[in-house]
Amino acid sequence: MSNETRKPLISGNWKMNHNHFEAIQCIQKLAYLLTKDDFAAVDVTIHPPFTDLRSAQTLIDADELRFILGAQHCHEADSGAFTGEISAQFLAKLNVRYVIVGHSERRELFGETDEVVQQKLVSIQKHKMTPILCVGETLSDREAGLTHDKILGQVRTALAKQSVEQVRSMVIAYEPIWAIGTGKTATADDAQRVISAIRQEVAKISSKMAAEAIRLQYGGSVKASNIGEIMSQPDIDGVLVGGASLDSAEFARICQYRLRAS
Ligand code: PEP
Repeated sequence: MSNETRKPLISGNWKMNHNHFEAIQCIQKLAYLLTKDDFAAVDVTIHPPFTDLRSAQTLIDADELRFILGAQHCHEADSGAFTGEISAQFLAKLNVRYVIVGHSERRELFGETDEVVQQKLVSIQKHKMTPILCVGETLSDREAGLTHDKILGQVRTALAKQSVEQVRSMVIAYEPIWAIGTGKTATADDAQRVISAIRQEVAKISSKMAAEAIRLQYGGSVKASNIGEIMSQPDIDGVLVGGASLDSAEFARICQYRLRAS
């Protein structure tokens, strides 16, 4: 499906990197490098660690920066005896607008199941934020020919309780686990094939209207040198960037990929 009507979304997931001083420097440098035209062309979300959010929010508000504040994770409950956790309700109070949910590191290292991911989606939307739902296959899934089964299964469970309106406004990021932080990237054709299958599945589960509107990202070792080819695919509406988003100059070049398109 053509992506002409879906504004590209470039998201930087800092993971557990950058303390709040470093976050401020990084955002200031990025703000210096990006222009009004860049923000007109792409939406940019930044997902710092929880402890940086208040500083990032204050900076973005005070300097009227056009970055959209994001978080990396939240708990599915609004409050309660969940030591160390943060709720969607708290994030919304900090003007967080996008929340990553079901990142493969959360699924693999912290045991998040498809069912828990579904509850988190509901909570994020209840507090009027946009979820970035991550789905992806392991190398062994891929080698066993199970890529589509795994990913479409994750999408089906996550979207089971979503209205058409909720689906059309959310984001799904296809992140092959073997490509995250490894320097290996799915070929642009491969990423397009999987992402197009996700869009078709969304049309089946929800509606054609939601499938046309939902923004689908690719993630996995995206850099300034490979984003052009990835973004030239018709169903890919953006990228979720880990390692390369920590370097403001590199992340700015990623956000400005259109300037290098031939
Ligand atoms: C990620 O953290 O979601 C990610 C895709 O990481 P990287 O870009 O480093 O592969």
